[in-house]
Amino acid sequence: MGDLKLTKLNKSFGAVAALNDVNLEIDNGEFVVFVGPSGCGKSTLLRIIAGLEDITSGAIAIGGRDVGGLSPAERKIAMVFQSYALYPHMSVRKNLAFGLENLKFKRAEIEARITEAARMLAIEPYLDRKPRQLSGGQRQRVAIGRAIVREPAIFLFDEPLSNLDAALRVQTRAEITKLHRQMKTTMIYVTHDQVEAMTMADKIVVLRAGRIEQVGTPLELFDHPRNLFVAGFLGSPRMNILKCKVVIGDDRSVRVDVGYPTLLRTEADLASVSAGQEVLAGIRPAHFALTDGEGLPFEVQYHESLGTETYVYGNLQGKAEQVIVHQPGHFAPAPGAVLRIMPEEGRLHVFDPASELALA
Ligand code: ATP
Repeated sequence: MGDLKLTKLNKSFGAVAALNDVNLEIDNGEFVVFVGPSGCGKSTLLRIIAGLEDITSGAIAIGGRDVGGLSPAERKIAMVFQSYALYPHMSVRKNLAFGLENLKFKRAEIEARITEAARMLAIEPYLDRKPRQLSGGQRQRVAIGRAIVREPAIFLFDEPLSNLDAALRVQTRAEITKLHRQMKTTMIYVTHDQVEAMTMADKIVVLRAGRIEQVGTPLELFDHPRNLFVAGFLGSPRMNILKCKVVIGDDRSVRVDVGYPTLLRTEADLASVSAGQEVLAGIRPAHFALTDGEGLPFEVQYHESLGTETYVYGNLQGKAEQVIVHQPGHFAPAPGAVLRIMPEEGRLHVFDPASELALA
């Protein structure tokens, strides 16, 4: 069974604390993505699950069994690396067979598994080629095939698409998702790419400096980040963050003053805030709309046109922070132009400046 439980996991490399008190449960069959900035411990966590790295303290259980002392093979885990890690002098067929031969599988069983994996990955035409005779995308499929033939309880992927060009990344991403749907095996996937995280994951784990910041479905994390770090990490371009004061409206509603003349009401329950309190207001670039008359005056600095969409950079009048406004389609406002913008209702996030936690 491919369920995984990490309890109070700590890992140090000498004086470097790479993982701090990591607690995590992954259900059998889930597709879980680890994201976080460089050096946050994603690869270390994956390598610990694989059994390639010792733990300093804590426990790791797979299928309810403590696997702390077990080798990668005994854990029934297969890992797919960014570098593919294929044997260059062996054919694709031999690369796929090699691990099973070492485990003394019968010839017929090895052949059956290779045939099935090659069919799933559409690599039948390349079985007799050497890795150097394959494209990067084909090599990556062979690397995945080598994991599949082992029929692991858990697949681990360490940034498997980062050596592929953009088009192939999109295609391979979809193939891995399809594979997961077919196989229904637990997959744990490390990436820097938040589009991969958002589109592939059942559950995203956001790490920072060796600690888990938040765990949830992609939309839970996107719509309800529990702190400023998660809010800023997921979403591109980043969420706009503005220093604001809380205003209590005539109707006793709690509002956040994001700039003259408009007061913005939040849907969040801000029972804990009081009038005049300083907060950080977060609004994603896509959640500002251009308006005709009413709205916040927004002075344009410059824009980036991506063809199907435009990012406009500027300032809300009276606010120092740069604000990014997303507009669908092509739009070319002149630098210095003053537009009117309004945040969409209910799309405001509010954070405590000291604790950086969401106030909701
Ligand atoms: P990246 O996204 O850049 O690959 P990561 O999130 O995967 O980063 P890790 O490679 O897990 O991060 O590293 C976590 C921390 O542990 C870093 O501070 C790193 O320098 C340190 N570290 C990793 N491996 C070792 C090692 N073998 N010896 C000493 N320090 C290490």
